[in-house]
Amino acid sequence: MTDTVSFGYEDVAPHEKTARVGEVFHNVASRYDVMNDAMSAGMHRVWKDVFVRRVKPRKGEQILDMAGGTGDIAFRMKPSGASITVADINPAMLEVGMQRAAERGLDGLVWTEANAETLSFPDRFFDAYTIAFGIRNVTDVPKALREAHRVLRRGGRFYCLEFSTTLWPGFADVYDAYSHKLVPKLGKLIANDEDSYRYLIESIRRFPDMASFKAMIEESGFTETRVEPMLGGLVAIHSGWKT
Ligand code: SAM
Repeated sequence: MTDTVSFGYEDVAPHEKTARVGEVFHNVASRYDVMNDAMSAGMHRVWKDVFVRRVKPRKGEQILDMAGGTGDIAFRMKPSGASITVADINPAMLEVGMQRAAERGLDGLVWTEANAETLSFPDRFFDAYTIAFGIRNVTDVPKALREAHRVLRRGGRFYCLEFSTTLWPGFADVYDAYSHKLVPKLGKLIANDEDSYRYLIESIRRFPDMASFKAMIEESGFTETRVEPMLGGLVAIHSGWKT
């Protein structure tokens, strides 16, 4: 790993990124769900629905929802009858997730604090690994991808939903202006936290483009890797198999 990593538009030491990302999600946890709706005009719900349709969770499967936060992906997969473990590095996000699960009467989900880079699960344990809007916040992405590969059984599948770079030129300009100017203001208005939302937008800009991230997934051992862009790649689903 290099000496510095990106924290939004800043370059910081790896341990500093982990700590500052921790602060961001600690700060936003209680307003996270409201802000997701406000920032994406509710579209994150559609992206997550499509994502879970691609994952196709099945009864009896063991699925790890990494960086699962407040449970949006796990809640969508639960009706399938799969056994789902929600793992996240941030206890504040997990706490909100557990409260939401209780409010919805959803029991049987396993909630656990874990860093995607160093998982304590055994090798070849899970049938599927999902990570939604989480990977760009991880300090050492290749290490997290290698861990994903390790904990999947042979024939297991990897699915990642993440912001990327839209290839629609006009739309890219509009989105750029919206995200840099308006999102931090929305963060201030709704969550009284401009800086955390500035980081979230900047971290999208610094994340590798679709082709580069696909190559990283391949380098960590996955095969048959695919990218499904949405809105020209504003958001993308990357997937791969462990063979
Ligand atoms: N997956 C949820 C969703 O789609 O709503 C939450 C996404 S939220 C934008 C990003 C999550 O990544 C946060 O809950 C954060 O704590 C988690 N995260 C950041 N770094 C992590 C790491 N190294 N390991 C595990 N989780 C991490």
